[in-house]
Amino acid sequence: MGWLNAGPGAGYGAWVERVEVAVVGAGVLGSAAARALAARGVDAVLLEQFGPGHTRGSSHGATRIFRLSYPDPAYVRMAIAARHAWAELQADAGERLLVVTGGLDAGPGALACASALAACDVEHAWLSSADLAGRFPGIAAGPGERMLFQADAGVCLADRTVAALQHLAARDGVPLRPHTPVRSIEDRGGRVLLHTPSGVIEAGAAVITAGPWMTGLLAGVLEHVPHATPTLQQIRYYQPARADEEWPTLIDWQADGGAWYVVPRAGGAPGLKVATHVPGRGIDPDRGPFPPSPAHEEMTDRYVRRRLPGLRANGLAPQTCLYTMTADEDFVLDRAGRIVVGGGCSGHAFKFGPLLGEVLARLALGEDAGLPPGRFSLTRPALAAHPVRP
Ligand SMILES: Cc1cc2nc3c(=O)[nH]c(=O)nc-3n(C[C@H](O)[C@H](O)[C@H](O)COP(=O)(O)OP(=O)(O)OC[C@H]3O[C@@H](n4cnc5c(N)ncnc54)[C@H](O)[C@@H]3O)c2cc1C
Repeated sequence: MGWLNAGPGAGYGAWVERVEVAVVGAGVLGSAAARALAARGVDAVLLEQFGPGHTRGSSHGATRIFRLSYPDPAYVRMAIAARHAWAELQADAGERLLVVTGGLDAGPGALACASALAACDVEHAWLSSADLAGRFPGIAAGPGERMLFQADAGVCLADRTVAALQHLAARDGVPLRPHTPVRSIEDRGGRVLLHTPSGVIEAGAAVITAGPWMTGLLAGVLEHVPHATPTLQQIRYYQPARADEEWPTLIDWQADGGAWYVVPRAGGAPGLKVATHVPGRGIDPDRGPFPPSPAHEEMTDRYVRRRLPGLRANGLAPQTCLYTMTADEDFVLDRAGRIVVGGGCSGHAFKFGPLLGEVLARLALGEDAGLPPGRFSLTRPALAAHPVRP
């Protein structure tokens, strides 16, 4: 890392800091990218507009679901690769960051998940309503209803994971620089310039992992700006009626294509997390933090009363969090010129975090990231417009 006095003729202020790679945004993706770059000895910085552990983006909170079960074999394969990345991260961090609980899929989406798991040779089983009553009595199955069980699902300890990634990045020479918003970006061909209130950073490549701020930050910078809409999501914790009961993760697919989900208690969470995986209203992330909606709380309480008799009906304090929705719900993982973009996480990227950090580091270093051609590209038609109007 070097500083130089660019002098009055340079056109972008007196002090310029030079690095090989600058990472913008310290959620799970940016922190994982910084850790992967640090592990390779790359001269890099991790810039974050807010303080460590802030609650304005997408990665805060105690827990997230990890699962191999997806309706699409491509994501099953990605989750298998991510499981190895989690194991490697835990070994490096010396702490448990992924708690395996097993997971259920219920409802119409479960069939497609079973086919995708079968296509990838992942073990899974169908549990009858009698099996479910014996094994997971906290979840009410309808008469004759069966659910898909996959044993490798579990809980990512979200806050602890982001902190561990940042700690490992700093240990290997890439510290977090909080309260450093990147106001604008210029790709000057040979180098990228990042303008911050404390000076200009000139990088060989910039990794933009700005979460809900991605589209705004890249507007006017890239020829193909990836359009993704930040939406407001709400979760609520519930305490179990019985402390000794075993809980799996649950994805309860609904007929309209949305889903309810349940995350077992782990990582210091005040209870099990219950929420709906349906994009909320479009928002401007700069207007946050956003208060929870009482109507949404009531809707969640109603679901808990109907489906989860093993939880105490009165929920604990709700929390809000942001999704960054693309039209096809696929991520953006691509490079254009000297700018690498990791985003459009559409409410399901935490489980892939350690793996995607490695992908982004490879893209930044000009290496093959092993991505399926086109699927996560910046130029795909699904990114041409916002899927939900803010
Ligand atoms: C309620 C909820 C539940 C979820 N559940 C699951 C789940 O069970 N399983 C799962 O796999 N995924 C889940 N997700 C999705 C997952 O959490 C996100 O996909 C992931 O956290 C996205 O991380 P990110 O790093 O892309 O974004 P963020 O965490 O938002 O990080 C972006 C960072 O960039 C910073 N930034 C932005 N602009 C700038 C700038 N100009 N300069 C400097 N810094 C900047 C922001 O402040 C922020 O810290 C859930 C998400 C939510 C909201």
